[in-house]
Amino acid sequence: MTVRTRVAPSPTGDPHVGTAYVALMNYLFAKRHGGQFLLRIEDTDRARSTPESEAMILGSLRWLGLTWDEGPDVGGPHGPYRQSERSDIYREHADRLLADGHAFRCFCQPARLDALRQSQRAAGQPTHYDGLCAGLDPADVAKRVAAGEPHVVRMKIPAEGVCRFEDMARGTIEIAWNTVDMQILLKSDGMPTYHLANVVDDHLMEITHVMRGEEWISSAPKHQLLYQYFGWEMPKLFHLPLLRNPDRSKLSKRKNPTSILYYERMGYLPQALTNYLGLSAVSHAEGEELLETEALIREFDVANITLGGPIFDVTKLDWLNGRYLREVLSPEAFKQAVVDWAVNPVYLDKVAEMLKTRISRLSDIGLSAAFLFAGRLGLTPEQLTDGKVPQDALVMGFHLATVGFDSLPVWTSAEVERVLREVSGVMEVKFKDFVRHMFIVITGKPQSLPLFQSMELLGRDICRERLREAIATLGGASEKQRKDWTARWDAAARERALEVQDQAG
Ligand code: GLU
Repeated sequence: MTVRTRVAPSPTGDPHVGTAYVALMNYLFAKRHGGQFLLRIEDTDRARSTPESEAMILGSLRWLGLTWDEGPDVGGPHGPYRQSERSDIYREHADRLLADGHAFRCFCQPARLDALRQSQRAAGQPTHYDGLCAGLDPADVAKRVAAGEPHVVRMKIPAEGVCRFEDMARGTIEIAWNTVDMQILLKSDGMPTYHLANVVDDHLMEITHVMRGEEWISSAPKHQLLYQYFGWEMPKLFHLPLLRNPDRSKLSKRKNPTSILYYERMGYLPQALTNYLGLSAVSHAEGEELLETEALIREFDVANITLGGPIFDVTKLDWLNGRYLREVLSPEAFKQAVVDWAVNPVYLDKVAEMLKTRISRLSDIGLSAAFLFAGRLGLTPEQLTDGKVPQDALVMGFHLATVGFDSLPVWTSAEVERVLREVSGVMEVKFKDFVRHMFIVITGKPQSLPLFQSMELLGRDICRERLREAIATLGGASEKQRKDWTARWDAAARERALEVQDQAG
């Protein structure tokens, strides 16, 4: 049997280091066993999936050197590899489950489901679909379908007993069936949910091992049952521990940049990042941390993956990256790395466009654009404040800017400006005064290239990192302050939403 693994990202945001970690584990596992590694795009959530996010995810994984044998861009015998292009396949499979009596059509409207949830919550019970439509008369169902009544398809779940399934890292896991909901498989618009699409695709794409984040453990009973309903063998499951901050909390943007784009822009070498992420899955003696991909493949053993979760420590990554620059790269390769990083064609095009009308000599470029080729700027409290805006208000503003930025579905100069206007409103500080400080945080200078455009170019994570650094330099913020500020921000957002409604009404 050929080992086949896959990574199946949902294109709903920036490419996350967690995705890189999951992709790498699947890649190393497949290559260790002479198998194949696939990439599948799980874009069944049409409202949240974007082509931009898909392009960034593909670009980032490619940058990391994780080449896939089959995928939406390279094709393959089991395509299409983008779930939004496979709806017919899912519909056929849902029909099969309906015909075999493993699934049922559910006509319940949101109002009924809401009321049901509320009463279950009030009674202290887990919220579940109660199975009302599972008992409908088939003739009645046929009539309602023929009349075009909107409905979903749900899977049947045993009412009692325990589901047992195997996890390569954890052994047998038991989950009581009465804690598992009658999962929706097809939504009313005919699109599948993750669960149906994932199971059907893993089977049709002949996946033998599924290594995915441990947040999916609770979905495994539904998946196993679907495999049984279809009469298919289930791939082996390995639920991977989540990456953690050095304080062992779940990796979060608050404490660590999480976008792969950040690490690329900061000038980490892809092989250093891959090496660092791969260390958790190979046994190595101290002093033997430098393992390029070939060595990682050779040494990879799932037995090394500890369930506590690998620590993502940027200080260690810095150290390893430094070793790559000093010890691994030849002078030629180093030169090439500098060029690859600095002369990134997309980035350079945009920098050139901004500079062209704003300099008189080419030598002006160095100082004007230095901040676009830097990470943290190391500013002092004196540089960050001018005494006009109180320091507390500034720290609040910087914090709220990060909150606002995190919530943006797209990172554009217009959206950045909108958030900063809203922040200055909550701070009760003039926009102009707040922007003056943002100029310094982001560009290091009171005047520079256009701020919002520069921020778009720098990317969300570099901006966030500079704000984080500024907050720390100005004395930081307590957990309580952050909570209070965020509550003020949320209240202001609710007010804005009401105003919009009023205007629309
Ligand atoms: N689309 C899912 C995710 O992004 C994939 C989970 C899986 O690998 O089954 O996490």
